[in-house]
Amino acid sequence: MQAEVLPRSVTEARVLSVRHWTDTLFALRISRPSSLRFRSGEFVMLGLMVDGRPLLRAYSIASPAWDDGLDFYSIKVDGGPLTSRLQHVRTGDRLLLGHKPTGTLVLDGLRPGRRLYLLATGTGIAPFASLLREPEIYEKFDELVLTHTCRYVEQLGYGEELVAGLAEDPLVGDIAPARVTYYPTVTRAPFARRGRITNLIETGALFRDLGVPPLDAADDRAMICGSMAMIADTRALLEGAGLIEGSSSTPGDFVVEKAFAG
Ligand SMILES: Cc1cc2nc3c(=O)[nH]c(=O)nc-3n(C[C@H](O)[C@H](O)[C@H](O)COP(=O)(O)OP(=O)(O)OC[C@H]3O[C@@H](n4cnc5c(N)ncnc54)[C@H](O)[C@@H]3O)c2cc1C
Repeated sequence: MQAEVLPRSVTEARVLSVRHWTDTLFALRISRPSSLRFRSGEFVMLGLMVDGRPLLRAYSIASPAWDDGLDFYSIKVDGGPLTSRLQHVRTGDRLLLGHKPTGTLVLDGLRPGRRLYLLATGTGIAPFASLLREPEIYEKFDELVLTHTCRYVEQLGYGEELVAGLAEDPLVGDIAPARVTYYPTVTRAPFARRGRITNLIETGALFRDLGVPPLDAADDRAMICGSMAMIADTRALLEGAGLIEGSSSTPGDFVVEKAFAG
């Protein structure tokens, strides 16, 4: 890849490590260009040169804004234009990275509250991997609840390790373990906790399991990252409980981001 043919909208970064979690999921750590600034929870365009052209897709940054490197957590889509190639990168390979991270899953979008629910399905956990290592989240909220719903048990590994690793984090390690509750659920295989998060909210099982009151706009805040259908259903439940959607310019009780287009 020749640096001089790069479009102005992208820069180059090096793959520092690759980890394959399952046959459909992998994680990348790449170098962080010194000019790249972002807020924990944002996404950025990431990709490769293919046939002399940049092929880029939106990716949530899975590491916090203070980290020296950039982490990503990716699906492998069968025949997917980018991920059928991206899954084969190795340490030292060059990737393309957009200059302008953006997104709605940021702490600026939320009013302070007592309890923050981070509601993720699939790779939608990636922005929460960033946010749970961000010290500000512990200043703004007393309790953090990370829910992660996947089809199969083996797809929970990334989240399990993320939560277990918080104790070792240099910035939040002292505070996070006592404040974060992890709530994994599985939809298509036997597991201790089955079902979609929407059903678990609707039936009240989530709150009974956690030993907390039902959703209440006075105390509860939420961030949602999943499929369009999951977002629509979850948004309706939150709005039904009186929570109001926020944005960076007008902070509210919850914010949403799709985990993929389509
Ligand atoms: C704001 C935003 C943030 C994103 N963050 C991530 C991320 O952190 N990690 C990630 O893996 N992807 C993420 N995506 C999706 C990503 O942009 C690509 O769609 C994905 O990398 C597949 O690229 P592709 O070219 O191989 O296939 P595409 O042609 O982009 O996608 C093919 C089809 O695969 C399905 N698909 C795509 N991505 C996913 C996914 N993540 N989970 C389940 N099904 C999917 C969709 O049905 C899609 O129509 C994000 C998308 C958006 C809009």
